Amino acid sequence: MALSEFALIKQYFQQSELAAEPAQHAGVALGIGDDCALLNVPADQQLAVSLDVLVSGVHFLADADAALLAQRALAVNLSDLAAMGATPLGFTLGLTLPAVDEAWLAAFAQGLRSSALRYQCPLLGGDTTRGPLQLAIQVHGLVPVGQALRRSAAQLGDDVYVSGTLGRAGLALALLQQQLPQASSEQQRDLLQAYYQPEPRLALGYALRGLAHAAQDVSDGVLADLAHIAEQSTVQIVLQAAAVPVAPTVRQLRSEQAALALALTAGDDYELIFTAPVTARATLQHLAQQLALPLTRIGHVATGAGVHVLDAVGKPLTFAKAGYDHFAQEQTLL
Ligand code: ADP
Ligand code: MG
Repeated sequence: MALSEFALIKQYFQQSELAAEPAQHAGVALGIGDDCALLNVPADQQLAVSLDVLVSGVHFLADADAALLAQRALAVNLSDLAAMGATPLGFTLGLTLPAVDEAWLAAFAQGLRSSALRYQCPLLGGDTTRGPLQLAIQVHGLVPVGQALRRSAAQLGDDVYVSGTLGRAGLALALLQQQLPQASSEQQRDLLQAYYQPEPRLALGYALRGLAHAAQDVSDGVLADLAHIAEQSTVQIVLQAAAVPVAPTVRQLRSEQAALALALTAGDDYELIFTAPVTARATLQHLAQQLALPLTRIGHVATGAGVHVLDAVGKPLTFAKAGYDHFAQEQTLL
């Protein structure tokens, strides 16, 4: 490597506004440079930890823009904190590089820095090795003891909600694979933004503490993700197809049926899906206005098992796949 490992870390990752500095981050007692970082965890809080690994050629194209890739990688992790109702403390980075490409590293670090600053989630440390391009990010967050939003907490009679709109990130994959020649430049921008710069719903996550029962973020697809809530809560989830907030761009570019399938099964939207008691309806409506974020009631929790989608006349709909599973079938790049 042209640049030594330590020079590389110092130059690209130990820069201000990216690396944690104890003077600026109350939760961090020690950042990059020692054998471990040291975090302050107040006695009434729990540490929430989540790791995501992104592999070149599996999760992103090898020639993906490095700054966007960095933003996406951090956003996807922050989304997990949001889904638990946790506040970001910082993240660690495991970076495997085929070679030292300084232009790539500079763009990657700049992308990380802008997101670290925006979400108050600084870099705490990590590891840098040589090998096929891969990024592992682990986020650390805080949540008051006992208040994390769990997948196992759905209750009979709960409403089921989703934030934002669905389907754009899924359709962006078709665009990235040159399978969407009819998309206008404005539509392309909308889809790519959803894919590369998903907005972790942190403010929603905090607000749902003590209000929602079960929650999780939409990574694999609404049906696949809700199936986890149904299974862990031992309930059935029933969705009304007509209520699903399919993103306008997806409606414009796909048939009604295909758009619904994308919204429910494509994943990568990083919205929150959650269940809440009927008594929370007015509060949630108010919260949606406050956050300027649609919170759409798409179904309810019933006795039974699994996730079922009904059309306008109550007939069950079936979908070719529920969501993305790395081991379920041969897949091209997702
Ligand atoms: P060790 O060998 O003790 O595990 P390293 O030599 O790998 O430590 O790393 C030295 C310091 O640089 C540590 O504080 C580590 O957290 C940090 N570091 C290494 N790689 C990265 C990275 N990709 N991003 C941020 N910090 C890093
Ligand atoms: Mg060490």
